[in-house]
Amino acid sequence: MSNVRVRFAPSPTGYLHIGGLRTALYDYLYAKQLGGNYILRIEDTDRNRFVDDAMKNLIESLTWAGVVHDEGVFLNEAGEIVQKGEYGPYIQSERLEIYKEHLDRLIESGHAYPCFCSKERLETVREQQRASNEMMKYDGHCRSLSKEEIDARMAAGEEYVVRLRMPENVDIAFDDTIRGHVSINSDDVDDQVLMKSDGFPTYHLAAVVDDHLMEITHVVRGEEWLVSTPKHIYLNECFGWEAPQYVHLPTVLNKEKKKLSKRHGDVAVGDFKKKGYTKEGLINYLALVGWSPEGDQEIFSMEELIAAFDFARVSKAGGVFDVDKLNWVNAQHIRKMSVSELTDLCAPYLIGAGKITEADLAERRPWLERLISTVQERIEVLSEVVERSDLYFREEVIPETPEVEEMLRSEGVPVLIGAIRTELAQVEAIDDEFMKGFFKRIQKATGLKGKNLFMPSRAMITGQLHGPDMAAVFVVMGREGIEMRLNFVEENFTK
Ligand code: GLU
Repeated sequence: MSNVRVRFAPSPTGYLHIGGLRTALYDYLYAKQLGGNYILRIEDTDRNRFVDDAMKNLIESLTWAGVVHDEGVFLNEAGEIVQKGEYGPYIQSERLEIYKEHLDRLIESGHAYPCFCSKERLETVREQQRASNEMMKYDGHCRSLSKEEIDARMAAGEEYVVRLRMPENVDIAFDDTIRGHVSINSDDVDDQVLMKSDGFPTYHLAAVVDDHLMEITHVVRGEEWLVSTPKHIYLNECFGWEAPQYVHLPTVLNKEKKKLSKRHGDVAVGDFKKKGYTKEGLINYLALVGWSPEGDQEIFSMEELIAAFDFARVSKAGGVFDVDKLNWVNAQHIRKMSVSELTDLCAPYLIGAGKITEADLAERRPWLERLISTVQERIEVLSEVVERSDLYFREEVIPETPEVEEMLRSEGVPVLIGAIRTELAQVEAIDDEFMKGFFKRIQKATGLKGKNLFMPSRAMITGQLHGPDMAAVFVVMGREGIEMRLNFVEENFTK
């Protein structure tokens, strides 16, 4: 096992964003490729944003997608949160003592200082900076309070935060795997709050401390954190630690090149799952949002992604999330699936729509699988199974277009009905064997051929002009089903 250790560190604010899943995926692919460890850490120190059950939801989404961590926070069989690994706890709110200790070290060494400024004062400073077009940052008001004053104000119970003391006019530089060399002058960096007045650390302190203590080698995260990284580099320096390698991923954008957000449609992994994206399809597509594989292969299994993935081929520019492409990729994975697996995945949609029952699932499995096999090539997302298989569940033949209706009223139809009935009279049940040569026999009996045979036949049975293979449709509908439809057409269109 290599010493590569990467972490996905979401905040439990409600649900797993599709961009978050991509970050987790890249973490996972990289760790697996190098035989390293992928860790799930929960960053829940922002109590204002805390959402109940969000942690569970995150883990469920990641597990569903097959982006499963080696260490960190898991759900046990009873659905309870458990932690596994030697670097725990992996939930930041359970590590407050650790942050406190590290914060004290920074205060002692003079790298951090308490700040008693009120919200109002900070707002006034900001207003002034805004008015004079200066960079908005803390003005250093509490930077040089004496030890006595600090002690006295703390003893008096005044509220305070603790800030990082950025040095004056030094360049802070690092090499990002994707962005390359990044350098910023410390004068352009704010004195970051490390501990809030509620005693909780901010993300910045907690993440840096944890990344070090958990021996994280690569920090892979969204590029919105790039501006914070100089603070993280400097914090590592203050502690005398070597900073991990930073890898800032391009943002996932919508078609308008804006950050993919809830306002413009689905962003939660759970929503994609509900719509009927398969985990294989979603993962395959997400891998391609930002990363371009060598060669022209587009359809990848997870194993293939692990082998092919390369940060060197992740672009700096944002990756556009294209739903049409996602649908296409998803359809490819649906086609590759075994019918049995696809049946399991489609069944909940059919049950939900009232087309089949739980009992059918057990008792009519071969029939259901046969039905599913006829739509396998025709759906892009699983939920489409309901619409695509509707022809099997409708007892009436409803012409899809006036053209179909015209066809049902045409002269050849009664002849065709007669011939099909004669054929059906010879068997108990319709099976593949019987369907072999079926249309040849009908052709012989009616003299109709090609389009003139197949189009009206399909129209009579399904009310449509296009659809699954007719022999398969006969098998799925069964003798009674076909006879019922022939009777319906005879009653309603030929008289
Ligand atoms: N908790 C941060 C987030 O949810 C993690 C950022 C990081 O990976 O450092 O975006």
